[in-house]
Amino acid sequence: MTIKVKNRIKFILIILILLLSPAFLYFVKNKDLIAIKTFNFFKEDKNYINIENISIANGEEKIYKELDVSLPIFMYHFILDDYGENLDVENFLRPSTLEEQLKYIVDNGYQTVFVNEIEDLSNYTKPVALTFDDCFVYFYNNAFPLLKKYNQKASIYIICNYVNGPNYLTSDQIKEMIDSGLVSVQTHTLTHRELTSLSLNEMQKELVDSKKYLESTYDIKVDTICYPIGKYNKNIIEVAKNNYKYGLAMSGGVYYSNKHNLYEIPRIYANRSMSIDEFSSYLRKSKVNIIY
Ligand SMILES: [Zn+2]
Repeated sequence: MTIKVKNRIKFILIILILLLSPAFLYFVKNKDLIAIKTFNFFKEDKNYINIENISIANGEEKIYKELDVSLPIFMYHFILDDYGENLDVENFLRPSTLEEQLKYIVDNGYQTVFVNEIEDLSNYTKPVALTFDDCFVYFYNNAFPLLKKYNQKASIYIICNYVNGPNYLTSDQIKEMIDSGLVSVQTHTLTHRELTSLSLNEMQKELVDSKKYLESTYDIKVDTICYPIGKYNKNIIEVAKNNYKYGLAMSGGVYYSNKHNLYEIPRIYANRSMSIDEFSSYLRKSKVNIIY
């Protein structure tokens, strides 16, 4: 090798070191941040959630914060003493039972949250979510006054084509509940038909048009679909993913952020015979751990 070639190699090596050293220094300085970012990137496929960007005071740098959440989400239907001729007696929770549960929540320091806060629970320590399906007028008459009395939040799932119909919520009642700040109004489709029994077109219409109706009529953001009768399949989840951030199932117990995905969020059936002991045993599973 001639001296000329050796010098050229030396020169190239020096240039390479000069070029790479800022990247090396950046890596050393930010290795924790890079590690967390990479970690989160690989986790995305597995439906991990709760990764928040929290700006530090200078507004420049960001810390990546991950939450490990256990959230009991209770599912209610009718809040009514009298179940009439109805055979689904368990769907009819007494208003006094709901009041006992709300009182327990308040007295024991639990905090009601909306379902669509599920990825942002860092400000809570003992969250619980209350959800009401179908939402006939009995919700407005019997549950809403209790939510106001105890100042607690609930998410409700509206059958859009029923609004202003017999025994159903009126649009004025829906507006009043939205304005209270205690009720998050979300969709339970247009007609409550079983989505798995519909054609692709009809199913899409149920998901897309009900969202459009609620958003345009009430000027709200609708990001959660509650599948009627808890029935869904791969196609339905695909359409849900294109239109919503969250999908609610009807069973499955407590929601765990490291286990469940956001389009099959499990719930606990709060039925007529649920005792306060059973109710509180689910509440005790509520947890928010911050993992840095
Ligand atoms: Zn329903």
